[in-house]
Amino acid sequence: MNPHTGKISVVVPAHNEEENLPVLVSRLESVLAPYEDFEILIVDDGSIDNTLYVLQQLSHHYPSVRYLSFSRNFGHQAALRAGFDHATGSCVICLDADLQHPPELIPTLIGQWHEGHDVVCAIRKPDPSLPLMKRKTSRWFYRFIRTVSDVNLEEGAADFRLLDRKVVESLNQFKETDLFMRGMISWMGFRQSRVEYQAAERYAGKSKYSFRKMFNLATMGITSFTTKPLYLSVVLGFGMFLFALLFGAEVLYEKYFTANTVSGWTTIVLLIVLIGGIQFIMMGIIGIYLGKAFQEVKKRPSYLIQESNIVDKVVSVEGW
Ligand code: UDP
Ligand code: MG
Repeated sequence: MNPHTGKISVVVPAHNEEENLPVLVSRLESVLAPYEDFEILIVDDGSIDNTLYVLQQLSHHYPSVRYLSFSRNFGHQAALRAGFDHATGSCVICLDADLQHPPELIPTLIGQWHEGHDVVCAIRKPDPSLPLMKRKTSRWFYRFIRTVSDVNLEEGAADFRLLDRKVVESLNQFKETDLFMRGMISWMGFRQSRVEYQAAERYAGKSKYSFRKMFNLATMGITSFTTKPLYLSVVLGFGMFLFALLFGAEVLYEKYFTANTVSGWTTIVLLIVLIGGIQFIMMGIIGIYLGKAFQEVKKRPSYLIQESNIVDKVVSVEGW
């Protein structure tokens, strides 16, 4: 029997998405109707609007809708993780709640899965209507990650993909609290394939990724996958040392072989600023890694659930 068949789980992280969810669920329902067995698992990531209420209503209306509601905002990646924890399907598809990831692409993803692929990533085609700033920052981000780490992240690979059950199980074994899903999945291997799609506009509401959240995601992506920035200090230090040697030689030459020796203020200030700056950068980098080690050592759960129609008490997952 082809192991790539069976129940389909769709995992949707949602933070303040009350207007999008009813439309999303009805579109998902019609896309998934031809499949025998499916569930729609929506993770309410500490919304402060009526998302939870909307979910309760939807779950009464559609038996396939299951939901988890976090006790506060734990972030997109934690919501995905909770979804993977509680999904019961033979494959899990995750997509955003704002309909930027068209549900109509799902049958194509499932088709690839039936053909034997374990990971099917939906890759966003470059979208000229996005703000230039967002396009540029995302391009730099992917390029930067590819350069500083050993992970081959494809540009446009957001969190819209299908994972086979065995990939989900493997992912659930990762104990790190900071989980950068995109990098992790690319790192994991298995038989991967890709499908391109044109991203739609956000259906309602504003982006829930503030600059701060994007910055955090980027730092997490980098520091989870590489320690190369730490080596930067060695390289910079070496560079500084070379510079000091040359500069020292020049100063000595001026002192012994020329008449104009009373210069100095500018160079001293420049040197202090230069060295100070480099030291601060390096302390910052080391601090980030140290903070990360501190986070991981505590082994706190990635999320806490306060309400759900599938689990009936507040649960924390050991080691997460
Ligand atoms: N999201 C979440 N928690 C957060 C921020 C976002 O669960 O703290 C969800 C959000 O509801 C959406 C998905 O993550 O389903 C992607 O967010 P968004 O569409 O705002 O990001 P963008 O498309 O602007 O990058
Ligand atoms: Mg979006």
